Amino acid sequence: MKQRVWTFAMPLLLLLLIFIVPQILGSFHIALLNDIGIAALVVIGLILVSGIGGALSFGQAAFVGIAAYTTAWLSTAQALSPWAGLLLGLVLTCGSAWLIGGITMRLGGHYLALSTIAWGLAVPLVFANTHALGSHSGIDGIPPIQLGPWTLDHSRTVFILIWLVVLGGAWFAYNLLGSRVGRTIRALRGGKILMASFGSDAFRLRLTLFVLASAYATLAGWLYAHTNRFVSHTPFSLHASIDYVFMMVVGGMAQLGSALLGSALYIGLNNLLQDLLPLFTNRGAQVNSLVFALLFLLILERMPGGIGRPLSRLWARLRPRAKAPVLPVPSSQLAQRSMPERGRQILSVQNATKRFGGLVAVNGVSFDLRAGEIVGLIGPNGAGKSTMFNLLTGTLPLTEGTVRFMDEPTSGLTQREIALRGVARTFQHVKLRPAMTVLENVALGAHARGHCGLWRGGLSMDREEEARIMAEAMRQLRRVGLDDQAYEQAGSLALGTQRLVEIARALASDPVLIMLDEPAAGLRLLEKQALASLLDTLRSEGVTVLIVEHDMEFVMNLVDRLVVMNFGSRISEGRPEEVRADPQVQAAYLGSDA
Ligand code: ADP
Ligand code: MG
Repeated sequence: MKQRVWTFAMPLLLLLLIFIVPQILGSFHIALLNDIGIAALVVIGLILVSGIGGALSFGQAAFVGIAAYTTAWLSTAQALSPWAGLLLGLVLTCGSAWLIGGITMRLGGHYLALSTIAWGLAVPLVFANTHALGSHSGIDGIPPIQLGPWTLDHSRTVFILIWLVVLGGAWFAYNLLGSRVGRTIRALRGGKILMASFGSDAFRLRLTLFVLASAYATLAGWLYAHTNRFVSHTPFSLHASIDYVFMMVVGGMAQLGSALLGSALYIGLNNLLQDLLPLFTNRGAQVNSLVFALLFLLILERMPGGIGRPLSRLWARLRPRAKAPVLPVPSSQLAQRSMPERGRQILSVQNATKRFGGLVAVNGVSFDLRAGEIVGLIGPNGAGKSTMFNLLTGTLPLTEGTVRFMDEPTSGLTQREIALRGVARTFQHVKLRPAMTVLENVALGAHARGHCGLWRGGLSMDREEEARIMAEAMRQLRRVGLDDQAYEQAGSLALGTQRLVEIARALASDPVLIMLDEPAAGLRLLEKQALASLLDTLRSEGVTVLIVEHDMEFVMNLVDRLVVMNFGSRISEGRPEEVRADPQVQAAYLGSDA
């Protein structure tokens, strides 16, 4: 109940403020707040792509500049409406972001930073040297924005628009982060292998975020041009882009509130220094830069989470937050796939070989899996079991041989496509997002079973589906016996328990085949028994399980068949008692006492 009051009261209060503040404050402070609002918009986008998404951009001011110049030029030289300027600005910035991102983001994290530095340097140069854009003197006489009957020709009136846009932009970003797509945004730093394991394309997502961030920058540039009614190239320099990064870091990269905090702090302090420093020195500009550089270092050193971190903790304490998100009661469950009929061959591995340079990690291994059986893949350390998992899931390409899943060769498929066909896995080295809750981690597994995208998420039109996803995640958590820890941070759990969370995440994808890499490591006896009975249940439901495990008693009592590997080769295969009796296995692996 309290939660509901907050969700309604907060926006209402903010709206009220937006209309009251310009009546109270003097024009100097209004202008300052306008600058802060415009910067905050840019920083919201930057937090999404860089702070949370992990791809650092030094080109945001260039996007702001493109938008500002576009609308300036269209509304002066072409005498078109500022709204046309906004539209064309969006097309130009989003288009160029898509191009830059599309080319460089595939190459990895740092390439975006490098290419956006070049971009941030080049764009203002173009402005300064284009005659039609006023060269060094810029464009003036930009008309105000017309909003229905209102002409926003005063900083007080444009204040209202700026802050409505900031509020709307923050609301969208906040909803987005709490949505199905938002969960994958928050998981991006877990790497593309993790992302692909639940059917999400890390590259595409980062690219989308980069384009989205450029859209936020466009709104900022458009508002800037029609607030100041004049543009020149200087405020869009690389320096300004670095300032935006500064604002993000000072506020705290990973939380949206820091957009406001960082930009307020930066612009406020900058203003203060510009007033104060001339009283002491005639090198004000240099000292100003020095102060900011020192402040930046101090914050990075003392408060790696930014100033926002302690504040958000305080906020969390003040604000009564229900543990579970408020969601409607779902009217149905997520759709389930139809399982292949029991006994049908679903996976066929022929002569699978993987070489790492001179090392043959997997050497001509063949075996089959049939629907509804549990097969153990065993062998000493370094035998090639995890590598085999990576080959089967498409994480690594085969050097030789073929893998067919559901009668289709997987060689042309990406890891993500294989996952989408119903192959789920856990990792020997657990890949959970430690700062997300246990429930959210499991909900990631159900990602591919939902459909709501960026827009529906950002506009909060995804609540019914979200409720279904959460209900499914909770159901899977209950199966592994962790429903009472659903709202704890995944990173706070013991390692063995984290493995169970990974199993729940894999199950949430409704898999045909589930591959578990040493799931019982770190589990206590009772937990192992519970895990064995869970796998037994899965088998009875028709799910196929391939399991790598070192605990022989656990494996022998559970599996239908075993495949034994040693030094990359398959040395034995059969029912547990056959394998146990195989002298080659005894020699290579189990030892004579096994
Ligand atoms: P297991 O899981 O059976 O303990 P792995 O599949 O992890 O064994 O490793 C098999 C062999 O392949 C080991 O010798 C390991 O060092 C090597 N190996 C695994 N992954 C790589 C890699 N990415 N690059 C080079 N060598 C690797
Ligand atoms: Mg291994």
